[in-house]
Amino acid sequence: MEAAKHEYPQRSLDFLFELLATPSISGYEDPGQRVVADYARHLGLEPEADVHGNVWAILGPDDGPLVGLEGHVDQIGMTVKHINDDGFLHVDFVGGSWEVYARRVTVHTKHGPVPGVIGKQPLHYGEAEDRTKTKKIHEYWIDIGARSGSEARQSVALGDPITYDGPPTLLGRDLLMSCGLDNRISVFCAFEALRLLKEEGFQGPARVAALSCVQEEVSMVGATTLAHSLPLDVVIAADVWPFVTDVPDCDARRFGELKLGSGPCIVRGANIAPRVFEGLVDSAKESQIPYQVQAWPGQTPTDAMAFFKSKGGTPVGLLGAPERYLHTPSEVVHMGDLWNMTRLMAAFARSVESSESYSRRSAILG
Ligand SMILES: [Zn+2]
Repeated sequence: MEAAKHEYPQRSLDFLFELLATPSISGYEDPGQRVVADYARHLGLEPEADVHGNVWAILGPDDGPLVGLEGHVDQIGMTVKHINDDGFLHVDFVGGSWEVYARRVTVHTKHGPVPGVIGKQPLHYGEAEDRTKTKKIHEYWIDIGARSGSEARQSVALGDPITYDGPPTLLGRDLLMSCGLDNRISVFCAFEALRLLKEEGFQGPARVAALSCVQEEVSMVGATTLAHSLPLDVVIAADVWPFVTDVPDCDARRFGELKLGSGPCIVRGANIAPRVFEGLVDSAKESQIPYQVQAWPGQTPTDAMAFFKSKGGTPVGLLGAPERYLHTPSEVVHMGDLWNMTRLMAAFARSVESSESYSRRSAILG
């Protein structure tokens, strides 16, 4: 089945691009969450927020099973660990990164954004074999053009968050490139699913919550605490899914097959409630939404696991937007996959009838 092109209206794309352009690294998500809350108000919904900065909005009747459609709003980056007397910043990672030499960055200070570039020992100083090696994080620095430590300290403070520069850009007809697609795109899809349901006059039987969670990249604490504070009966977590095999040197024998533009990935494995997986597949088939399946045998490195094992356990499903170049300033997804992930979230929410549907209790006890 060919993936449909996206049918997002301009206001939705404005929301996506504003969210992508708003820095929100783990622990510093408030600017991004304000964009999300404003969009919920634009949809005519009342946004809610909690002590850690999770944001959500609920659509539907006053009671009924509560379905969560979830993405994490935090993005990876760095933090300032040390400012040396020559004015260079030493840093640590927030979330995972690998080769970062010569990346352009922005340090978010109390006085405003400060541009910089990541440096390392000049290549011609090291041994020949060092030229191809990735350095340890303390061997890099950020050059902000300061002439001394005291000049740097006038603007930058220890702990200031740093984002990689990678503005949202369209590649060709269908691909979107940006830093921090992981995982603002899933927040976008969750709130767009709410928009589709609102526009069709959705009345339940389920209540549907779009959830924008914090700190997935460092601790999954947002999803963990929200699982305790909201009485969620089932959660569809969504994230980018980087195990694509439509680029050179990716081995389908190890990862299965996954292609950009062939629809969202529905993940199947031990962390996924079987009936939620089946419900997602059935919803995709009924609504003629293209999808792909990947098996993930153990714990998924996503908020799905946090919901799955918090409190008394919540039945979860996991959707992945196929993504190239994970955790770089130039992550790439297919706009049609986002559209189909949005549609699939909405289709699943429409299909939910009771709070017990996805528990294994009834499968065992009858
Ligand atoms: Zn990530």
